[in-house]
Amino acid sequence: MKCQDTEKYINLFIDDKLTGIRLKEYIEHIEGCDSCFDEMETNYLLKGALLRLEEEGSYDLHGELITKIRNTKKCLEVHEMVTMLRRVALICAGIALLFELVFVYAFYL
Ligand SMILES: [Zn+2]
Repeated sequence: MKCQDTEKYINLFIDDKLTGIRLKEYIEHIEGCDSCFDEMETNYLLKGALLRLEEEGSYDLHGELITKIRNTKKCLEVHEMVTMLRRVALICAGIALLFELVFVYAFYL
């Protein structure tokens, strides 16, 4: 993902509307690119501050942002693990089916 591509994802990320591979690529980019992280953080802080003014909540917006990124990465990791386990299960099912076919072929035909 290039810097110019990240602009359109800033608000989607802040509003939790960015998902899948785009979300993964976005997180990877902002973690390695200070200027894109700063731009996203500025947007996040501004938006958060406006909401807080209405709700009178906490003001540790930077901490909340770091937690949000950490949680998002955990979700992505779990999602990747589930995808991998699903693949392993499919492969096992395929092998089981193959054995069954060999068994049927060997004993009944
Ligand atoms: Zn960048």
